[in-house]
Amino acid sequence: MSGEHSTVAIVGAGFGGLGMAAALKRAGMDSFTVFEKGDGVGGIWRDNTYPGCGCDVPSHLYSFSFAPYRSDTVRYPGQRDILAYLQDTTDLEGLRRHLRTNTEISSAEYDEATTRWTLTTRDGDRHTADVVVFAVGQLHRPKLPDIAGREDFTGPAFHTAQWDHAQDLTGRRVAVIGTGSSAAQLVPRLAEAAGRVTVYQRTANWVIPKPANEFGPLTRQAFGRLPALQSAFRAATYLAADMGLSPVVSRGWSARPLTWLARRHLRRQVPDPVLRAKLTPNHPIGCKRIVIDSAFYPALNQDNVDLVADTIERIDATGIRTADGTHRAADVIVYSTGFRASEFLVPLDVRGRAGARLHDRWTGGAEAYLGIAYPEFPNMFLIHGPNTILGHNSNVFIIECQVHYIMNCLRLLRDARAIEVRAEAMAAYRQWLDRTLAGTVWQAGCQSWYQNPAGRVTNPWPMSTMHYRRLTRRDPRPAFRTS
Ligand code: NAP
Repeated sequence: MSGEHSTVAIVGAGFGGLGMAAALKRAGMDSFTVFEKGDGVGGIWRDNTYPGCGCDVPSHLYSFSFAPYRSDTVRYPGQRDILAYLQDTTDLEGLRRHLRTNTEISSAEYDEATTRWTLTTRDGDRHTADVVVFAVGQLHRPKLPDIAGREDFTGPAFHTAQWDHAQDLTGRRVAVIGTGSSAAQLVPRLAEAAGRVTVYQRTANWVIPKPANEFGPLTRQAFGRLPALQSAFRAATYLAADMGLSPVVSRGWSARPLTWLARRHLRRQVPDPVLRAKLTPNHPIGCKRIVIDSAFYPALNQDNVDLVADTIERIDATGIRTADGTHRAADVIVYSTGFRASEFLVPLDVRGRAGARLHDRWTGGAEAYLGIAYPEFPNMFLIHGPNTILGHNSNVFIIECQVHYIMNCLRLLRDARAIEVRAEAMAAYRQWLDRTLAGTVWQAGCQSWYQNPAGRVTNPWPMSTMHYRRLTRRDPRPAFRTS
C-alpha cells in the first residue's frame, strides 16, 4: 500500500489508537489510517492470553465513555471480554476499513517543507500523513530477565504476554519467575492443573483484596430493573479510585488504611507465619503497582505450590538454582517478568524538524508535554506517552483526556499547517513534573517499571485523574505555536 496519504496516521490499535480513531470518525474526519503490527485490534488485550488474564479495574469503568460496557453480571472483565468489547467497538464505530493490520511502522520522519510525516513500514512501504499519533502503549514489549544460563534451559520457556498454548501444563512442574499483577492472576489458574508450581519472588508486593468477579444477586436485580444504576456504579468506582487511591501516590491520607487493609488481607489469607513473612513487603505501599487480587495468596497455600524467595543464581538445562545452592527441577519456565515500559516508542525511529531524533532527545528519560507532545516534533502526538499511565484508576479515562486534547490541537490545524508545543511550555511542565514526582512514593527506594534504569520516574501520572482532566481541558493555544 505504498504511497497512500491520510490526514491522520495512528500507530497502534489498542484502547488508545481505537479511542483516537473513534473521536476522528465522530468528528466527521474520515481521512485517517490505523496501523497495527498485530493481526487484529486489542493491543495488550490481544497479546496477553495467559490463563487467568483479566482486568482488576471494574468493567463499567474500563470502557470508553462513548461505548460504556454494560453488564448485570460481570464486575471484572476477563481478557476475552475486553478483546470482544474492543472488536465490537471497532465495528460499531465503523473503524474496520481504516485498519492496516500486520503492518509494523518502523520509522516516521517529518518534512518541514511539506509539513508531512512519512511513515515507513517494516516491509519498506511508505505512507504519508499530515499528523501522526503514536498510541503504542507502555506495556507491550516483554522483558525477559537477565539471568545467567537462561538459554541453557531445554524445556519450553515463554513470557506471560507470549503464552504458548501448544503446551499442556497438566501435571507438569512449572516455574514462574515474578510476582507482579500478571503472576498473581496466573498462579491460581496454573495451580489447578500443574503438578507443581514454583513461584520465584524477588520482591514481595502489596496485595489488596479484589471483590468477586461477578455481582451478587441483589446488584444484578437492581441493575436489571434500573439500568441507570450502571452509570452510577461507573461514576462511584471512578470517584472511589481517584479520591481513595490517588493520595497513596503522594503518601497521603489513604496510604495508612490501605496498608492496614493489605496486611489484614495477608494475615487472613496466609496462616503460615513463615510464608507470611516471605510475602510481607519491605517498601511503602504504592511504591510498586499494588496487586489487586484475592486468589493469589490462597494458591500459594496449596500443597502443590511453593514460593521461593531466595535469589535466583542461574538457570540450567533442567531447572533453576538459587543462591542458597538449591536446584529445583522444572519442565516449563514462565517469565512473568514484566515489560520494557520505560523504552518509549522503541524500536521506532522518529525524526522531527531538521532530522532531530526523538530517542536522542530522550537519553535522560522519555518526556512530553502532558505526555502528549514534544518540541521539535510538529504534528506529532502521543497517547499514553511519558508520565501518563495509571496504577490507581482506569487508563481508558486518561486516554479519553488525551484524545480530547489532541482533537483540540487538530482543530487549530484548520487554520495552520503545523502545530508544535513550545520549548518554554515543555520546560515549565518538566519543572512542575519533577517537583511533583519528588514527593511521590515511587521515589521511596523501590525499583519498578515506573522508572527507567537511571531511576527517573518516566511512566506513571503523579496526581489525581481529575487534575489530568483539568489540564487536558485547557485551551492548548498558549502552550503551542502554529505556523
Ligand atoms: P511487573 O509488575 O513488572 O512484575 C514483574 C515481576 O518480575 C516482578 O515481581 C519482578 O520482581 C520480577 N522480575 C523481573 N525481573 C526479574 C529477575 N531478573 N529476577 C527475578 N524476578 C524478576 O510485570 P507484570 O506482572 O506483567 O505487570 C506489569 C503491569 O501490567 C502491572 O504493573 C499492571 O500495571 C499491568 N497489569 C495489569 C493487570 C490488570 O488487571 N489491570 C493485570 C496484569 C498486568 P521485582 O519486583 O523485584 O522487580
